[in-house]
Amino acid sequence: MTIEEMISWLREDDERALEDLWRMADDTRRRFVGGEVHLRGLVEVSNHCARMCSYCGIRAPSRIQRYRMTREEVLECARLAHSLGYGTVVLQAGEDPGLTGPLISDIVRAIKAETPLAITLSLGERTPDELAGWRDAGADRYLLRFETSNEKLYQRIHPPSRQDSPSRLDLLAMLHDLGFEVGSGVMVGIPGQSYLDLARDLELFRELDLHMIGLGPFLPHPGTPIFEESEQAKDQAPASELMTYKMLALARLVCPRANIPSTTALSTLNLEKGRELGLARGANIVMPNLTPTRYRALYEIYPAKAAVRDTPEQCAANLEKRIIAMGRTIGEGRGDSPAKLHHEKREKNY
Ligand code: SAH
Repeated sequence: MTIEEMISWLREDDERALEDLWRMADDTRRRFVGGEVHLRGLVEVSNHCARMCSYCGIRAPSRIQRYRMTREEVLECARLAHSLGYGTVVLQAGEDPGLTGPLISDIVRAIKAETPLAITLSLGERTPDELAGWRDAGADRYLLRFETSNEKLYQRIHPPSRQDSPSRLDLLAMLHDLGFEVGSGVMVGIPGQSYLDLARDLELFRELDLHMIGLGPFLPHPGTPIFEESEQAKDQAPASELMTYKMLALARLVCPRANIPSTTALSTLNLEKGRELGLARGANIVMPNLTPTRYRALYEIYPAKAAVRDTPEQCAANLEKRIIAMGRTIGEGRGDSPAKLHHEKREKNY
């Protein structure tokens, strides 16, 4: 698919025409990753953050109550993920120096010693040594969104911590080399992001050969600088639910074997149907939130994250019912990346 074709889909507003896009994405999803929906338990382990990202509610200057889960609390969540039948636990946090290299390695080893869970980390831009250490400790996957392929926009919304620190793209390459399953992605509809930028994001997904792709709408947080500025691009892409589905569907077409979640940010825009529509339009993963309720509201990267009042057990049961009602099944096992397996097979054949 060419950039022009992508842009033309991103601009398409005719519902009947879009049905074709949804069908192509759903067919591709079925052919390449099948009918299984893998569940990943998400644990937001800390909302401390050293960075100044202009879009994010937990950025360093935010005057919010900060928390960092203890090793034992994280382990408890991992046990819960396993007991609910999930194959993966995802540890996500702000870029928190208090989550030291050795502490995370220790937690990873402890989870591995007790459960067969795959472990995904999403802890921001960490040093090559830390990333290598976590891989050695047994971490399987790493998520680091490049947020936007438009460099100028990226610089504006994501000031570097140090001038000489590796870029997110450098880190993604490094994660690949370390043998992680690598995930990246973008926000859709950042002020200043054009249709062309989104098409280039899709191109970059393809180039990076991603194993996982996460995307969601940009959701303005009132406490952040971007909320005030909101400088629009000449050809501004909207941060809409529809635009997010288009990006999801196109991501599936350009990276047919990737694991693609129907994200929480999407359910925030449509609590009733967002998750299911995402699954019907290219996604094959759901990440139920297992963060203890006492911390959950504090991990406010954007406002009004899909509110969950049910217990994790009720959520799991409800989710499973809905997935089965869609004619899909709950994925068994860890749900490793078909993209990575495909890659490794291809390399062996050479
Ligand atoms: N500190 C880690 C994890 C951040 S949270 C990191 O930076 O990688 C995970 C993702 O949430 C981010 O990568 C970003 O794409 C998304 N996010 C942050 N603020 C957001 C907002 N206001 N609206 C929508 N998505 C947001």
